[in-house]
Amino acid sequence: MIEDSTEFRKEAHKMADRLADYYEELEKLPVKSQVKPCEIISKLPASPPEMPEPMDAILQDFDNVIMPGITHWQHPSFFAYFPANTSYPSILAEMLTATLAQQGMVWETSPAAAELEERMMEWLKQLCGLPEAFTGVIQDTASASTLAALVTARERISKWQVNMQGFYDINKYRVYCTSETHSSIEKAVRIAGFGSANLVKVEVDDMFAMKPEALEMAITADLNAGFVPCAVVATIGTTGCTAVDPVKPIGEICVRYNVWLHVDAAFAGTAMVLPEMRHYLTGLELADSYVFNPHKWMFTNFDCSAYFVKDTDALIRTFEILPEYLKTSSRGQVNDYRDWGVALGRRFRALKLWFVLRNYGAVGIRETVRKHIVLAAWLTLQMQKEKGFEILTPTRFSLVCFRYVPEGMTNEDEIDKYNEQLEQKLNASGKLYITHTRLNGKYTLRLVIAQTYVEERHVREAWELIKGTKNSK
Ligand SMILES: *Cc1c(COP(=O)(O)O)cnc(C)c1O
Repeated sequence: MIEDSTEFRKEAHKMADRLADYYEELEKLPVKSQVKPCEIISKLPASPPEMPEPMDAILQDFDNVIMPGITHWQHPSFFAYFPANTSYPSILAEMLTATLAQQGMVWETSPAAAELEERMMEWLKQLCGLPEAFTGVIQDTASASTLAALVTARERISKWQVNMQGFYDINKYRVYCTSETHSSIEKAVRIAGFGSANLVKVEVDDMFAMKPEALEMAITADLNAGFVPCAVVATIGTTGCTAVDPVKPIGEICVRYNVWLHVDAAFAGTAMVLPEMRHYLTGLELADSYVFNPHKWMFTNFDCSAYFVKDTDALIRTFEILPEYLKTSSRGQVNDYRDWGVALGRRFRALKLWFVLRNYGAVGIRETVRKHIVLAAWLTLQMQKEKGFEILTPTRFSLVCFRYVPEGMTNEDEIDKYNEQLEQKLNASGKLYITHTRLNGKYTLRLVIAQTYVEERHVREAWELIKGTKNSK
């Protein structure tokens, strides 16, 4: 058992070397873990140890048992899903976070955590050109941010009656999104008590973006049928193919019908550090809330989701609950963030953001994000030039959606199968990791370039590997 600071110091130094070694060796490891289901659990003892074990033994098992089951999210050739990237300054901050082990439920339990969080949210607002009227708070995930938005929308429209009475004898509220909206919205709709049946999927155009006129029709049809439109969720950068719902016309409709507009930019929000991307935010001042995840693309390790809301009073009134044992004398002068979301206990997440934003500077963040976007454009161009490759939706931000159609193959099912196998072969190589979606029914390969330490050579190697694998048996 580590019992004193001398021993802790020794182990911590060794750990620092281990962390640096990991990043030096990372490229040699298979990106996607190659283990079979239950392979890891079968190597773990069924019962906890009775006697203390030395760190060496634990770390040896970490190397032998745990590491093979790690999918290396920080590998520069991780092109799957959306990333959850990190960076050296973020890791260093996380070490401090674990050391201080703050519980920032109210200001008094950690004044620095509360006030740094307040300032970091102001920094993010400036960095990304978000509307002045927004106030930010860190949530663990975009899912939690969206849940906070929908519960607040529910309370605003019910005049805080659902909080008090439950959904009993209350009108049926409706929430609107599209077929492309992230699954976390439907999850929030269920948890908040709206029910999936009251989630209306509005039609999309051929770029997979919400059609504002279809939204308005859905709202008026619902009003005629006696429903109460409550909230719309628009997305900037959908998970499948980074489609962008037009925020301005959607916002105008929401204002007209007094509907809460929540904008989900979980991944693409980071791109707003670039002035040339800001046009996607047009109309955001009409929204009631907005979320993006620094833990996806802003070099800040999971978890760190930035939730912005216009009416903080409504947010706090929705989540505030004040038992005697949580009353403090500083109430009202400072932010008690436990009233700003679901959880009472809160990690000191602002610290890693502070380290990252200072160590990179706005310039460093802009340069790195721009590099990713340029690399995605480069890869898109290569695919457009190469016979048989199809780009299935225009490349936005840094996601490339593509497939390969072998010469003479016309049957769509066969083409789907071919691309599914191509994906499996590529991922089994251990050299890169990509995932897929379906666009207009077509099996679509997704390659996202947003890793902190990805370089041009990784994208070139990926392209060579894809070309070399497509016709292999
Ligand atoms: C990733 C993603 C989410 C979910 O993010 P979590 O932080 O994991 O909850 C929500 N919406 C969009 C558009 C996403 O890309």
